[in-house]
Parts: sequence; C-alpha cells; structure tokens
Amino acid sequence: MRATRFFISTLKEAPADAEIVSHKLMMRAGMIKRLGSGIYNYMPMGLRVIRKVEKIVREEMDRSGAIEMLMPVVQPAELWQETGRWQKYGAELMRVKDRHGRDFIIQPTSEEAITDVARQEIKSYRQLPLNFYHIQTKFRDERRPRFGLMRGREFTMKDAYSFDRDLDGLKKSYQNMYDAYVRIFNRFGLQFRAVAADNGAIGGTGSHEFHVIAETGEDALVYCPTSDYAANMEAAEALSLFDARQVATQALTKTATPGKAKCEEVAELLNIPLQNTVKSIVLTVETEEKDKVTKQVWLLLIRGDHELNEIKASKVPGLANYRFATEDEIVEHFGTKPGYLGPVNTKLPVKVVADRTVAMMGDFVCGANEEDFHFTGANWGRDVAEPLVADLRNVVAGDPSPDGKGVLAIQRGIEVGHVFQLGTSYSESMKATFLDENGKPQLLQMGCYGIGITRILGAAIEQNFDDKGIIWPTAIAPFEVVICPMGMEKSPAVKEQAEKLYADLMAAGVDVLLDDRDLRPGSMFADWELIGVPHRVVIGDRGLKEGNLEYKGRRDAEASNVAVADMFSFLT
Ligand code: ATP
Ligand code: MG
Ligand code: MG
Ligand code: MG
Repeated sequence: MRATRFFISTLKEAPADAEIVSHKLMMRAGMIKRLGSGIYNYMPMGLRVIRKVEKIVREEMDRSGAIEMLMPVVQPAELWQETGRWQKYGAELMRVKDRHGRDFIIQPTSEEAITDVARQEIKSYRQLPLNFYHIQTKFRDERRPRFGLMRGREFTMKDAYSFDRDLDGLKKSYQNMYDAYVRIFNRFGLQFRAVAADNGAIGGTGSHEFHVIAETGEDALVYCPTSDYAANMEAAEALSLFDARQVATQALTKTATPGKAKCEEVAELLNIPLQNTVKSIVLTVETEEKDKVTKQVWLLLIRGDHELNEIKASKVPGLANYRFATEDEIVEHFGTKPGYLGPVNTKLPVKVVADRTVAMMGDFVCGANEEDFHFTGANWGRDVAEPLVADLRNVVAGDPSPDGKGVLAIQRGIEVGHVFQLGTSYSESMKATFLDENGKPQLLQMGCYGIGITRILGAAIEQNFDDKGIIWPTAIAPFEVVICPMGMEKSPAVKEQAEKLYADLMAAGVDVLLDDRDLRPGSMFADWELIGVPHRVVIGDRGLKEGNLEYKGRRDAEASNVAVADMFSFLT
C-alpha cells in the first residue's frame, strides 16, 4: 500500500468524550469515527485491524472443525418469544417493527436463529457433532455505551454454536472451542487469562471467559499463581458463599425433619419466640459498580418477625436497590418456590445474606415449605451462623485458593471471549430434537462461544501503548512495516531504494506501507508511532552514502543501522 492511495487521518487531540487510552488513541489514529452513541464508522485504518482479527479467528475456527455460515441481523420476534427472551432480555434488546407492524429484533446474539436452523436440519445422531459459526454485526442497546469499540452498541462478534447428542459430546465440543480460543489469543500476541465464569461451585467448567489483562479492565479476575485456579470475581465469590451454604444445608439435613411449616408455625410448634425463627427470601439484586450493572439472585435470610421495610431500613450492604424476583424467576433459578429456608438447586450464583444482628443472636430455627424436600426444626447455632456471616466478605488478594494450592491474587481484565455450555435449555424451549440409534427423539445438547471481534482492538491497545501511541502486536497491526523515505521527491537514490524495498517486501507477502507523502520526518514519524506500526524503516541520503538504512521497532528506544543489503532479510 502507498500512503497517497490510502486514507490516513490523524488528530493531535482526542475528542473530549474519549475517556480511556484505547478510545483516545483509536480516534486520534483515525481508526474509527463516531456516528452516534456507541455506533462507529470503521475507517480504512481500523478496518484493516478488524480484518486481521477476523482472519485469525476464521482460520482457527475452521481448523477446529467449525463451519461458517451467516445468520441475519434482523430476526423475527416469534423466535425470541418461543424461548421467552423477548420478555426476559430486557432493554438491551433492540426491538423494531416492520411496515406491517410485525415485531423484529436486531440480534444481540443468535441462539434462537441457530436453534431454528438446527431443529429443521438435524434429523439424526449421524449428523452430530456439528458446530456452526458466523462473524456478524450485533446490536445491544447498552445502558451506557462507552470506551469506543470496547462497549459499543453496534459491534462485531464471532459467535459459534455446537450441537451434540449427549453431555459427553458437549464437553468435548466445549474443550475443542476452549483450545481454539487459546490458539486464537496466542496468535493475537496478547497476554490473556481464561477464568471460570459459571457458578464456580458447580464444577466450574460450565463456562469460561477469556480476558485480556489490562489495568483498565472492567472485570476483576481472581487466580492462584501457584495453581490452575482462575475465576472471575462473581464466580470466585459464589464459590466461597456456596461453601458456606453447603455447610448450612448439611447442618439442616442432619438436624431437621422433613415437613411443612412457616416461621409462625415453627415458632408455635417449638414454643420459641417468632424472632428466633428465620425465613429466606429470594431477591434479584442489581449492583452498580463503575457503571456496570450486575444482576444477581440473592437468598436473603431474615428473622421471622422482621418486616421487609425494616430490612430496607437496615441497609444491608448491597441491598440499596433491589426488587423481588418473580415467582417464575425463582422457580427457574432455584428449582423451588420462594418461601422458607431449605436446600435449593440453583443455576445462578447465589449470595447468602444474613442480617448480622440475626446471625449473631445465636440459635434460630428455620421453616420450610415443601414436603420431603425442605426441612423444619433445624437449629442454626453459632457454628453455622458465624461462618456464614464471615463469608459475606468479598474475595481479596491473599485469601486461600479454593483448591488449597496457594493464595489468591487479583488482576483486572477485559472480557474478549466467552464459552458456555448451554445444555438443552434452547433445544427444549424450541423443540430441537434428533433421532438416536433407537429411533427415539432426543434433545440436542448445545454450547455457545463468542469472541468480541471489535472489542479486541480496544483491549489490545489497553495492553500495548506508550505516550506516543498504539503499539500493535504484529499479527493484528494495520501494516507490519512502514517505509519512510526522507525527501523522496528530491533524491532519486532514496526513491529507488524505497521502491525496491517496497517491491521486495510486497513480493514476500509482507504487509508493507510506503509513505510516499513526502512529509517532514517529524510528522511522518509521529503518525506511524501514533498508528502503531511495529516496524519502521527510514531511508535517507546520509545513511545511503554509508550503505545503511535505519530500522526502529515500535518498542525500541533508539533506531539502529542495518546495511542496505541486509534489510530485506532482517525484516522477513
Ligand atoms: P460484558 O460483560 O462486557 O457486557 P457480555 O458478557 O454481555 O459482555 P457475551 O454475551 O458473553 O458478552 O458476548 C460475547 C463477547 O462479545 C464478549 O465476551 C465481548 O467480547 C463481546 N461484547 C459483548 N458486549 C459487547 C459490546 N457492547 N461491545 C463490544 N463487544 C461486546
Ligand atoms: Mg453485556
Ligand atoms: Mg460479561
Ligand atoms: Mg460474557
């Protein structure tokens, strides 16, 4: 590429709304241009990076055996109504109407669309396993779009969906994707970490996030430097709290008799004051941290005689802003109806919150509402209550690792990929089945796997920059090498050398740009340092007289001389 035939548009100052380094530098380097909130033009320089990211992703997806297709951006609402996500997805789901008043969505993700394909196309176990992927535009009406491509509303994602005949197959497909992701992020040349993202308590293998390590990351990662343990903060906390709940559940199981009771009944039955009973209430809590809203389901233990407004007033940490989960949500997440304390099955991380004053009272007794499932009459003595309260604190650096192999450390990361074992939730609601060897219909086991293609650009820069600009890893740089001839128009020798090196590198398949703008050295160098091209060759009369060209790696403090004859092999 020649600079005069390309589009280069750099800025001295970043626009005022750019808060973080990657956003500022991408704007200044002319990689993106804002069209609206969270909506950007990918300018020629930025698009080259996006295409390189896509290429690596595509190559590794293909290598893993996944098959590329393309699903529509606009999808009929009916599909989303089938799975219930039309209601459940909330405000992030962009809903639109066509001229006939029919409802559509702009896809934030494609589980529904692919399951619709699968239920029509997959008939027999002989067709399995299958993994479809696409690289497509997504739209999420983010509550607070910001940081440029990092949290856009319109962005590009690679999403893949695997189909298997059973859980074993799903686990293999999942591992296959996990391995592909490791190859992908290694090829990008980025420092990353995969962390358990599911409720760590339930095996910790159901979901992993891939994070690019960067101090400006929105997520806290918990890991053990002396073992393999790594989880995002939510999963790490869920694990420590789950342990506490397990202890509690065991205590219940040991001491309680199955039956039906409410707090009032328990109090009467055992002839104890009502205030010494405890009931649980399940809440969905939204916490806002650094403008990121996290939704969690909380199991709230309250004293039998407490009213809810008392609890509100008591300012239990984190409960400033809550609503009750609907009964349906509770049944779905916990496998039981809301009501009174008992062992519950959960798919979501659960926080157990005990009102400190209640727990410190010592003994109290719980009620339950389901025959042969919940328990009554359990005695929650100090031995149960105190560890429970102690575990309410956050996971902090220096805590023992859950695997017992060291202590925990915490670092920040940017979520760039996510792999997830979906199981049969979509195939069930959309009736996607195949026939097994016995001709019996079985539900498809599904997994889904996302990579934030455009977010990778922001994440790569957050990890690799200096006061001059971006430092792209070579694999995803817009150009690998830039040739900067000094006074090209005046010096035939410079021009000849520049053209020759340019032609040789092109022929060798190197992604090279010849800066033929004939600018002054200062502005030329500033542009390429800002844009972040990893290798720079300067060609000038003075060097040529001594038989030298000048080379500078983007991270090098000083330029160095390389003999004219050696430059090509030096670069290739
Ligand atoms: P986040 O926690 O950052 O909101 P998410 O968990 O909602 O992300 P997923 O549904 O897991 O995102 O989507 C897969 C990938 O898509 C993410 O790992 C991320 O890289 C990317 N992604 C998600 N939301 C955005 C966005 N608003 N802008 C750019 N990329 C995004
Ligand atoms: Mg999100
Ligand atoms: Mg996330
Ligand atoms: Mg995610």
